[in-house]
Amino acid sequence: MLTARDANRSHGHSTAVAPVNVDMFLGDYVWLDLKTGREFVVPIGAVVKLCDSGQIQVLDDEGSEHWISPQNATNIKPMHPTSIHGVEDMIRLGDLNEAGILRNLLIRYREKLIYTYTGSILVAVNPYQVLPIYTADQIRLYTNKKIGEMPPHIFAIADNCYFNMQRNNRDQCCIISGESGAGKTESTKLILQFLAAISGQHSWIEQQVLEANPILEAFGNAKTIRNDNSSRFGKYIDIHFNKRGAIEGAKIEQYLLEKSRVCRQAHDERNYHIFYCMLKGMTQDEKKKLALGKATDYTYLTIGGCTTCDGRDDMKEYSNIRSAMKVLMFTDTENTEISKLLAAILHMGNLRYEARTYDNLDACEVVRSPHLTTASTLLEVDGKDLMNCLTSRTLITRGETVSTPLSMEQALDVRDAFVKGIYGRLFVWIVGKINAAIYKPPPNPSKAVRRSIGLLDIFGFENFTINSFEQLCINFANENLQQFFVRHVFKLEQEEYNLENINWQHIEFTDNQDALDMIAIKPMNIISLIDEESKFPKGTDNTMLNKLNSQHRLNTYYIPPKNTYETQFGVQHFAGVVYYETKGFLEKNRDTLYGDIIQLVHSSKNKFIKQIFQADVAMGAETRKRSPTLSSQFKRSLELLMRTLGVCQPFFVRCIKPNEYKKPMLFDRELCVRQLRYSGMMETIRIRRAGYPIRYTFVEFVDRYRVLMPGVKPAYKQEDLRGTCQRIAEAVLGRDDDWQMGKTKIFLKDHHDMLLEIERDKA
Ligand code: ATP
Ligand code: MG
Repeated sequence: MLTARDANRSHGHSTAVAPVNVDMFLGDYVWLDLKTGREFVVPIGAVVKLCDSGQIQVLDDEGSEHWISPQNATNIKPMHPTSIHGVEDMIRLGDLNEAGILRNLLIRYREKLIYTYTGSILVAVNPYQVLPIYTADQIRLYTNKKIGEMPPHIFAIADNCYFNMQRNNRDQCCIISGESGAGKTESTKLILQFLAAISGQHSWIEQQVLEANPILEAFGNAKTIRNDNSSRFGKYIDIHFNKRGAIEGAKIEQYLLEKSRVCRQAHDERNYHIFYCMLKGMTQDEKKKLALGKATDYTYLTIGGCTTCDGRDDMKEYSNIRSAMKVLMFTDTENTEISKLLAAILHMGNLRYEARTYDNLDACEVVRSPHLTTASTLLEVDGKDLMNCLTSRTLITRGETVSTPLSMEQALDVRDAFVKGIYGRLFVWIVGKINAAIYKPPPNPSKAVRRSIGLLDIFGFENFTINSFEQLCINFANENLQQFFVRHVFKLEQEEYNLENINWQHIEFTDNQDALDMIAIKPMNIISLIDEESKFPKGTDNTMLNKLNSQHRLNTYYIPPKNTYETQFGVQHFAGVVYYETKGFLEKNRDTLYGDIIQLVHSSKNKFIKQIFQADVAMGAETRKRSPTLSSQFKRSLELLMRTLGVCQPFFVRCIKPNEYKKPMLFDRELCVRQLRYSGMMETIRIRRAGYPIRYTFVEFVDRYRVLMPGVKPAYKQEDLRGTCQRIAEAVLGRDDDWQMGKTKIFLKDHHDMLLEIERDKA
């Protein structure tokens, strides 16, 4: 609470320098600028402990004490009263700077208040502990409330999505962003849980939609150093509601699973959860049929040097996965087939190779072991054929087929490519299977009566020590989402104010459009150059890099290699510079399997594996060469996604990771500043504070709120619509409050909308 003295001493935006020991009192709050010069260090809050002969002693928010002498007077500035105890909505912050935002989140976080608004944008700081705020009671408390009526909460966003969908009869979407481990997936699940609860049918379809998650997470999530349950794919869940607002289905779109993880994991990371769950959860009998042992027996599961994950019970998870699969109509046969493929992958990973030389050619052999036999049995292919596929390759030259041996390195690559091919296609099949259960096409698309809420939970921005093609795709997706945010929050908003002749002072913002243009939009963009080189038979990672250099060398968003030996190029993303290692780029982008492997699958007696490779087998060798590259497919699915989002009313949830240690109650200030800065939070607060996020056409406004003024006729009977609209607004909101009349619309603040709705509920 603010004290009377706090209120009297409101220092506005606290730009004035207060001389030390003049108006500092014991217990006063100040900003202390430690002037470290470090990029992400901002002034820290502190409280005055002692004032003594020209010196004052302050205790900062981290618990450190500092003596400030008069010479260092500029190091401290008084704190605005709103910053002392914090605010629920940051547009109310008096200290509108990074320090103010940061401290607001910090003091709320310490009180376990992890949610904070910026207008209707929700900032969520990961608590890394289970908080008692997601109960059925809480769901009830947040149902049918206006934003701001209750403390900030993810449920309030979900409730508003739902309410807006019905009130405005428009599809909604919720874009959940943040770094790995920031809490996107948990937030998505909470929104889903809320929507299922207020849809309120306890129906089979509701349960099916909820149970899709454990399956997706089993096959698409893994323990990484950043997150014990990291999503290694992106997803968009579109939830469909019928006219009465009950869930009647859903559709899941998946993006770019990280396939390389199946064969390789970084130190302290794991493969996909499903493998460990399966080995812990299957009965001895089930395991025996697949010749399976423990996780530590398998190369593919031990490369990261860790097979368990603190806080996860793989055995229990396995039974959850199995029951979720039942709910989603996976048959017993399908389950068996999936397990067979997973087991085959593990056995193939354990194959050992020995180098050989034939006719002066590097060659290799698979060391005989039960794993080879088991793998071929599980894949239902001939053992010799499998062995041949893994050690040699058929070339067709001038109509003749020649078999050439593979070097050991090549053979390992072929094997890994096969395994990744199986897993990637299995994942796509599983998503298809889930959709078959939950997606009901609209009975009559032309008379679409149904509405939807889409939830986007996509991989966050990535910047590792070594970044490859996957990171480029992921960061490209994030540039797109950032542009969507920038467009909505800054560009369209200000354009509309101008069009409507609103009294408005332009607000500057960081626009990432130029970076996005360079990556994927303008002619000769990075993605298209990579693609072109991938299709060019003689193209190599090197020739590709040369083309990138000559095309983009002068672009401010491109950082060319420093010398000709270097194989990395850099991109200045909105969230910082990322260097990409080009070795392996083209191979990853082509994403094709040798014809021999496709032939092998074709020869299999196993219907399931044939089914998941259906498209490849159907294509034939020649067309496969021209099949779309990974980046062109990804680009296309992103375009579709952006188009879908474009017709929805968007909500934004910004997740913040408070520390790198997955620990509760630990707030790393620099880490948080970086995330706030890159997400454009400062500018967002500024525009949300000055702007009018709510607007109605005069017709909409009069028809919705004429009940607040007795005797007002419906809009179609009005002669002076604008005047009527203005009269209602003046009567309910007050003449002097900060709302504006445009040419065709009335512009309101969030709190006006809330007030109008509350009055309307009463009327
Ligand atoms: P990635 O990009 O790696 O998939 P993410 O943003 O999806 O990361 P989550 O998996 O949602 O991150 O969150 C990471 C972990 O943080 C969770 O497993 C959970 O332990 C914790 N966590 C996140 N949000 C909450 C919350 N609201 N309450 C409790 N714990 C949470
Ligand atoms: Mg996730």
